[in-house]
Amino acid sequence: MKEDVGRIVAGGDDMCEICGATLGGFQSGFCARKVPRSEAKYPEYLICSHGCTEIIQLISHVSQEVEFELCKSEARHMAQVLLAAIEE
Ligand SMILES: [Zn+2]
Ligand SMILES: [Zn+2]
Repeated sequence: MKEDVGRIVAGGDDMCEICGATLGGFQSGFCARKVPRSEAKYPEYLICSHGCTEIIQLISHVSQEVEFELCKSEARHMAQVLLAAIEE
């Protein structure tokens, strides 16, 4: 059966294929997953000078699409920056 993204977005009790969260109604949010660099969706936008072999993708629960991706080193740095800002 063909995957129907519209059905996933509209459905009431569908689950996120990546994190298992229940995707109902207007729920928002993201989940993240680690994939080999060769699987980057937007390799031309990947800013990485570290030679990282893995990247982190942020997938929207609304669209189930990759909304953002960055290399592992940048992801780690961004996480530290965000945590520092929260705890300020
Ligand atoms: Zn998810
Ligand atoms: Zn990198």
